[in-house]
This record gives sequence, structure tokens and C-alpha cells, in this order.
Amino acid sequence: MKIICPSNDAVKRLIKPCDYHKDVHLSKYCLRIPCMEGELFYNNLSHELILLDEEEKNNYLNNQKLKEELIDHLFLVNEDDETKRVNEFKNIISLFNRKKDLNKFVIFPTTDCNARCFYCYELTRKRIHMNEEVAKDVANYIIKKNNSNKISIQWFGGEPLYNYKAIDIISDILNEKRINFNSTMVSNGYLFDEELIDKAVNKWHLEYVQITIDGTEELYNATKAYIYKDPSPFKKIINNMHLLLEKGIRVEARLNMDNRNVDDLNILSDQLLSEFGKYNNFTIYTRLLKDFGHKIHEFNSIKEALDNYEKLQNKLLASGHGQIHYVQKEYQYNQCMADDDGSITILPDGRIGKCEHESEENLIGSIYDESFDEEMIKSWKDSIYIEDCNNCFLYPNCILLKKCAWNIDGCDMYRQEALINIKNKILAEYNRYKKDSILKEL
Ligand code: SF4
Ligand code: SF4
Repeated sequence: MKIICPSNDAVKRLIKPCDYHKDVHLSKYCLRIPCMEGELFYNNLSHELILLDEEEKNNYLNNQKLKEELIDHLFLVNEDDETKRVNEFKNIISLFNRKKDLNKFVIFPTTDCNARCFYCYELTRKRIHMNEEVAKDVANYIIKKNNSNKISIQWFGGEPLYNYKAIDIISDILNEKRINFNSTMVSNGYLFDEELIDKAVNKWHLEYVQITIDGTEELYNATKAYIYKDPSPFKKIINNMHLLLEKGIRVEARLNMDNRNVDDLNILSDQLLSEFGKYNNFTIYTRLLKDFGHKIHEFNSIKEALDNYEKLQNKLLASGHGQIHYVQKEYQYNQCMADDDGSITILPDGRIGKCEHESEENLIGSIYDESFDEEMIKSWKDSIYIEDCNNCFLYPNCILLKKCAWNIDGCDMYRQEALINIKNKILAEYNRYKKDSILKEL
């Protein structure tokens, strides 16, 4: 038995293996994937990945030493009700999400945008900029609330750069007061230039930008429908990505996929990998373009969509720059910012929320209030539990919030996508392991 990815510490410390002498069976959280050298076993509770060779995979119940190892590593279990044990573990882990310091702020400098993507969920929402006064008040609010060593800011919107003056004001005040902070941004990247990037590095402490690119030049320009009379915003984005990467900022390209652009994304991914493959700080991933009910745009069937998604994702992972979101090594105690006590969103008028996709409803207060709506905060933590969870391979890591707009139609789509992500992640880890082994032998 070879360990490719070790178990996470929390599981190792908190879950005891069963008695070696009891009858055992394979855990229902174990996923098996055949590979060249035998079979990969992945444990979705501990996130441990092991490799058994041909002989081992066929005889693990008859080989006492191996059997004991597999019990120790929680691949073999004795319980009929594994869910109970996972629930106890989840309850302990959830204690980590109690009363953490407030240190993550998702700030909307504006809800307005310089692009008009047809799929944007914010198209019908109010478009407002954060004014100078509110920006100063936001900075002072952060200083007042901060009692941790370092704070993280995510600039969100709208297009955050469309009102970069608010970012300047907030950053200037935080810097003057010597607050230790870094920032990330979700942006279309259009408004960056050399001067702004220098400012982003030195004043905003920007470390990461996510930029969505939905097609090659012609399709991208048509999809984004920028408000400017620029013949090719695509060229400007590509140039800006170079500038950001050169300055050491991590740039992640997000490719939104629907039936319109499957072939085009294949060409685009080649272009981007050849253009940016030399940068270690460049990453790339794809997501299926969905509305909040997980309804996929345009595809004839969910299977067709998932097959195309898997194909492109595999290619990106194989390039060494691919990223899979939502599969984490560490044990998750929350779904996202919405059920994390350490995070809030701040809207352009100073109202405060829990979810970056909610700018109108389900808010919890304002920077001008003394306290939050605790009932609303609590309601953001309610997670889905249905009968299927008892036998779902994903259950140990699944925290789907009832209030999250992505979950309004249940979890079917999430389940299928998550399974693809986990399988791809396993194969990527296996390939990394094989590469390392070859290098060691040289
Ligand atoms: S994916 Fe659905 S069925 Fe599976 S654990 Fe999560 S909520 Fe339950
Ligand atoms: S949309 Fe859902 S996953 Fe995203 S921040 Fe909001 S609650 Fe979290």
C-alpha cells in the first residue's frame, strides 16, 4: 500500500479506527478508481488517497497486515451506521466556526459594471457606486472591528475597478493606520493598466485576480458587450493579464461553459496555455454556466454538459495550471463566507450581508449599526439534510446551505459535478505522484 495523499489531521486525531478482530467492510465513503499499477482508493472522510497494487487490491481482506493498515486508515470499517460517526465528527468540527474574529471583508466598491454579459445575475439589480464618505466609513469600520493580525479583503461587484477610487480611499486609510491586510479581486480585468497595477501591488496589496474569459476574441467581445467603442477588449484583457502576472499577482482565468462555446473554449484554452503557460502564478479552470437553480444554459442534457465539462477540466489539469474548486484537503467546517463568522460583505451604501451574491435581501445590518441581525446570521448557517444524505458518498464534506441561491432546486446537479471534480482531482494527484517517483529515480 502506498500513500499518495495523507489523511487530514482532524480526522486522524478525532476518529478512532475499529477493532482489528471485528468483521469489516469497505467504508461507504471510499471511492475506487482502477489505474495502471492497480487501484486507487480515496477516502472522502479523511481525504486520504492510497494505491494498492494488483495483488493487494484483490486480497486486502485476506492479508492481515494490509487489512490492519486499511482499518487504521479508515478504509475498512465495522459500523453499520457510518453516518452517525460522521455526524459526531461534524458536530465537533462545527465548533471551530463559533465566534471567530471578523477578518474577511468582501467589499463592493460598486454594483455597476462596464460590461453587459447576458448571463449576469446582477443585470436587473440597482447600480450604485460607493461614495467618498461611505468609503472612509468602511475603512474606519474595518479598523474598529479588526482584532486579528491580518485581514483579507476581496474587491467584488459589479466591476470593482469601475470605482477604483473607493478602493484607493479604503486602502489609503488602512495603510495610514498600519493595518496588515492583503486583497483579492473578482474582475473582468479591462480597466487595469500599468499605473493601476503598480497601485494594486503597493497600495491595495492585491495578490490574486479572477478574470472570466468566455471565448476567443470574437465570441469574448460579443459576450462581454462592453460599454466602450473598443474594437477588441479581448486584446486589452490578454495584455493586462501579462502585466498582472509580470508583477507577481496570481491570475486565475475562469472559463464559463455553455453549449454555444464548448468548441471555442477548447481553442481558447490552447491559446491561454500557450500565452501564459510560462508563468507559475497563472491558473485556469472551467465552470458550467448555470443560473441559480443549476439550470444549464443551452445544453441538450445534463450528461452532455457534464461530459464536456469533464473533458475540458481534464485537459486543464493535465497542463499543470488547472484548478479544481470546492475539493479541499483540509476538512471544511463551513460552506462559504455566508456561514463563516469571520466574514461579511459590505455593499456600496454600507449595508452588510453574508453572501457575495446577495446585494438586496437577507442582509444582516450596516456599518452604521451597533449590532448585527443575529437571527439572520443563524439562518445563513442552516444546511440541507435529506434522506439521500445517509447514503451519499459526498456527505462527510457536504455543507449545502438552505439559503444559498445555488441550492434552490436541490443538490442533484451539485452531486454529479462534485463527483467529477473528485475523480479528476484523484487522477491529477496520481499523475503528480507518478511524475515525482520518476524524478526521484533519475
Ligand atoms: S450532495 Fe445532497 S444528498 Fe449528498 S450529502 Fe449533500 S445534500 Fe446530502
Ligand atoms: S451564493 Fe451560495 S456559495 Fe456563494 S457565497 Fe452565497 S451562500 Fe455562499
